[in-house]
Amino acid sequence: MNPIYQRARFLAAAACLDQAPPDEGWEVAFAGRSNAGKSSAINALCYQRQLARISKTPGRTQQLIFFALDDARRLVDLPGYGYAKVSERVKAQWQGLMVGYLQRRRSLAGFVVVMDARHPLSVFDSRMLAWRRQASLPLLLLLTKADKLGRGAARAQLDRVRNVVADEPGQVQVELFSAQARQGVESVHTLLDQWLALDGCEDGV
Ligand code: GDP
Repeated sequence: MNPIYQRARFLAAAACLDQAPPDEGWEVAFAGRSNAGKSSAINALCYQRQLARISKTPGRTQQLIFFALDDARRLVDLPGYGYAKVSERVKAQWQGLMVGYLQRRRSLAGFVVVMDARHPLSVFDSRMLAWRRQASLPLLLLLTKADKLGRGAARAQLDRVRNVVADEPGQVQVELFSAQARQGVESVHTLLDQWLALDGCEDGV
């Protein structure tokens, strides 16, 4: 494991693209329905308990949260989606922020969509896939809370989702994950290392 994941720290919160840190280096963004397990996945990947909790503080739930791994690399926690009780105005704002970020952010090297392994590919998730297609980004679909399914059922969900996305263009990977059981952490690091240009460099330099 590259040690820079453990060094992740809060860098900035942005309610619009203008507030984002300079668009340099590499970053990987995480999206997901609220409650899908996105914060837990980010925490597990960074070996920290509290890191992504910052994204849940009131007022921050509609912001992009940037975590620095080193001077050139970042993880980005995108606002959760699928809230039933959000006004049309807030939904439109959220959509503008997400689409603007996915299409304009040049340092964005990969896109992770976190889904509960028991309920993958919601209508909202499908919209993420469509935006990702337009932006031509490498994609990882993370089926998390895999510990809540038996081995056979988890494997069946993995195969089913892989089938559904088989025709998606570009690099698409689907993995089972569990923050609780720490399942899938290594495979995700391997992919993030590629996206963040960490291959072959031990210490993020
Ligand atoms: P977020 O809203 O997408 O950031 O979701 P959270 O990470 O806050 O997780 C939502 C709920 O699912 C919490 O109660 C977590 O404890 C639980 N959860 C998240 N990941 C896992 C997992 O891998 N296994 C299990 N069993 N529960 C999980």
